[in-house]
Amino acid sequence: DRILVCCGTSCIANGALDVADAIEKELEARNLTGDVRVDVVRTGCSGECEQGPVVRFMPRDLMYYRVAARDAKAIVDSLDGAPVKKLLHRRDGQFFEHMDDNPFYALQHKVVLKDVGIIDPLSLDDYIARGGYEGLKRALAMTPDEIISEVEKSGLRGKGGAGFPTGRKWRSAAGYDEWPKYIVCNGDEGDPGAFMDGSTMEGCPHAVIEGMIIGALAIGAEEGVLYIRDEYALARDHIQHAIDDAYEAGILGDSIMGTPHKLHLSIVRGGGAFVCGESTALMASIAGKVGEPRAKYIRSVQRGLFDKPTVLNNVETLASIPTILRFGGDEYAKLGTEKSKGTKVFAMVGKVKHTGLVEVPMGTTLRTLIYDIGGGIMNDRPFKAIQTGGPSGGCIPESLLDLPVDFDTLTEYGAMMGSGGMIVMDDRSCMVEVARYYVDFLCEESCGKCTPCREGLRQMRAILTDICEGRGRAGDIELLERICHTMQDVSLCALGRTAPNPVLTTIKFFRDEYEAHIDRKE
Ligand code: SF4
Repeated sequence: DRILVCCGTSCIANGALDVADAIEKELEARNLTGDVRVDVVRTGCSGECEQGPVVRFMPRDLMYYRVAARDAKAIVDSLDGAPVKKLLHRRDGQFFEHMDDNPFYALQHKVVLKDVGIIDPLSLDDYIARGGYEGLKRALAMTPDEIISEVEKSGLRGKGGAGFPTGRKWRSAAGYDEWPKYIVCNGDEGDPGAFMDGSTMEGCPHAVIEGMIIGALAIGAEEGVLYIRDEYALARDHIQHAIDDAYEAGILGDSIMGTPHKLHLSIVRGGGAFVCGESTALMASIAGKVGEPRAKYIRSVQRGLFDKPTVLNNVETLASIPTILRFGGDEYAKLGTEKSKGTKVFAMVGKVKHTGLVEVPMGTTLRTLIYDIGGGIMNDRPFKAIQTGGPSGGCIPESLLDLPVDFDTLTEYGAMMGSGGMIVMDDRSCMVEVARYYVDFLCEESCGKCTPCREGLRQMRAILTDICEGRGRAGDIELLERICHTMQDVSLCALGRTAPNPVLTTIKFFRDEYEAHIDRKE
């Protein structure tokens, strides 16, 4: 039997390590440790972060929430007895004992997160016991072209927000006869409120590494780099641990699982700038240059890292690859919508009752996410908006809650799905303040290389501050729109081109709030 204690960053902050130690001590005191009977496993994020620390028994599948070290005795008492009622999930007066009964989990479909919260992320054996590296074994028996065809069949699109078809990117890189080639993992997740990639790296680092090895086989790369956000210390430690274990097990290095293929992986710590999540800035940063984007007249699949052919995929995209190779692209393509296949991981935070990490099939509506999975708005207040995709995303009003969330649908309505950060707001949020917050964030994070982004953001921040502080003037909304459109048309990189989204969507869907500020001078 195993007692799984969620030791993701959020649960650790709430005392999960003390909980794990206390349960271990209690088991020791009763002679129930190690191979005698019950093991305590420190897992990655189990999802419902706001209810942490979370503890789960396997195989009985009892799940406890908001556990403290002082609950250890009662928890161990309940191993064979009645559940500790005060620690069960409670929603609308009902108690839920098992994970799958809890509505937060019942509507999810986990592909990327299937092992997160279940395995010990520091154990290669745990990963292998759940089918880890089976996808790689299949890939090793295939030609690069066959691997790429499998990924193309899956319909997988880059989950960092842009949604570019992964198979097409790999095929382009494979087509260049220039060496060395590189595979790079973008783990520089910087959107406010987002923690999908950090949790995946913390909770199942081998899935990311397996995805990178398969990608390297497909394009012919023998070197890879994981660029990990500097603040993600736990994710970095777990990835490094997994890399070391993979080398020791002969999965990485001069021979991949005894074959003539080789791959060496290393970690580069992020430079601490939001713009380094942009592909060309990220590669410049790895190369030791200033992390600034460059014009993409030559794509990075041809000239990327060190001017060599490079594939850059984000964490979630790479962590989807082992499942695709293991079960086949067709199987993966059964999930999702016609043009957005598979699943998407979201970090849902803000004024929603049950916050956390959620993975659902593409095309799930925002209403399902917020109300069925998240349990609705805190204190049952009215919903106001949801910000998707971070500072480059948009604010979506109630009228769009029934639209499917995928790469294309929200874009048609002037919003976007983005990388997966979701901030839910209730009726007390001022949408002009929200726009000002994001513009202020981007003002600080813009690299300043091109004028439209650098100056446009500064001007927008000044205008939005004036409106928020009662100095708004007639014509300000139109001026904001003109600046936004100029930035969209002529900024050098995606940061500048998408920076207007929070402003344009709040003007589009909440114009009355701008007008009220300006008219009332408040
Ligand atoms: Fe830098 Fe902004 Fe120009 Fe991108 S758009 S290169 S972040 S100034």
